[in-house]
Amino acid sequence: MKQRVLITGSSRGIGKAIALRLAKQGYDIALHFHSNQQAASDTTTELETFGVHVSTLQFDISDRHAAKHAIEADIQSHGAYYGVILNAGIARDTAFPAMTENEWDSVIHTNLDGFYNVIHPCTMPMIQTRQGGRIITLASVSGIAGNRGQVNYSASKAGIIGATKALSLELAKRKITVNCIAPGLIETDMVNDIPTDLVKDIVPMRRMGKPEEIAGLAQFLLSNDASYITRQVISVNGGMI
Ligand code: NDP
Repeated sequence: MKQRVLITGSSRGIGKAIALRLAKQGYDIALHFHSNQQAASDTTTELETFGVHVSTLQFDISDRHAAKHAIEADIQSHGAYYGVILNAGIARDTAFPAMTENEWDSVIHTNLDGFYNVIHPCTMPMIQTRQGGRIITLASVSGIAGNRGQVNYSASKAGIIGATKALSLELAKRKITVNCIAPGLIETDMVNDIPTDLVKDIVPMRRMGKPEEIAGLAQFLLSNDASYITRQVISVNGGMI
C-alpha cells in the first residue's frame, strides 16, 4: 500500500513545496489549507500530475473540533497517515509593549494549539498500523534564538520544539520518529516584506532560502535513510545561528 502524508498548509509556500516533492517521490498526499481555495485547487491539480492520490482537508488549525472532525473523516476514508507534517503557521509581528491580546492569542492558538489539534487525532491510527511513521513539525530560528518583534511567534515555536521532543520519546518504541525543522528566512508570502539589504545583513549566505530547500530535508526525514533520527531540531537557515 502507498504511504500517505498529511501536510498542513500545503496550498502554498513551504507546505506546497513539500507536497510537490513528496508527490514526485510517489507519496499520496492529504493536502490541507485554510482560506485560499484557489491556491488549494491549483496545487491539487499540480500534485495529481504525478499520478498520486490527493485528498483535500480544509480547517482552521486553531479550531480543535474542526481539525479533529476533518482528520478523522480523511483517515476513515483513506487510512492512517504514514507521515504528518505540521507546517501551517502564522506570524503577527510587533514590539512586545505594543502587542495586542489578539496578536498574542492568534499566534499561540494557531501555531502551538495546532500541534495538539492536528497531531493528536493522527497519532493513535498511526500507532495502530504498526508500520512506524514520521511526524515533522516546523519551528523557526525565532523559536531557538528568539527574535525582536516576535515574542508571540518565538513562544509558539519554542513550544513546538518542546512538544516535538517530548512526543518523540513517547513514540520512539513504536518506530515513529518525531523531528522538527527550524527554517531561517525562506522566500514565501510570510516574509515578502523583508528588504534585501536586511537579508544580506542577517544571513551569512546573504540570501533567503527557497521552499524547495526545506522540502529536501522533509523528504529525507520521511525516507528509510532517516529511520534512526528522532527528537532532533534541524536548522535550515543559511548560517543565521
Ligand atoms: P505561508 O504564509 O506562505 O503559508 C501558510 C500556510 O498555512 C497556507 O497554506 C495557509 O493556508 C496555512 N494557514 C495559515 N493560517 C492557518 C490556519 N489558521 N489554519 C490552517 N491553515 C493555516 O507560510 P510559510 O510557507 O512561509 O510557512 C510555513 C511554516 O514555516 C510556518 O509554520 C512558518 O511559521 C514556518 N517558517 C517560515 C519561515 C519563512 O521564512 N517563510 C521561517 C521560519 C519558519 P491558506 O492560504 O489557505 O490560508
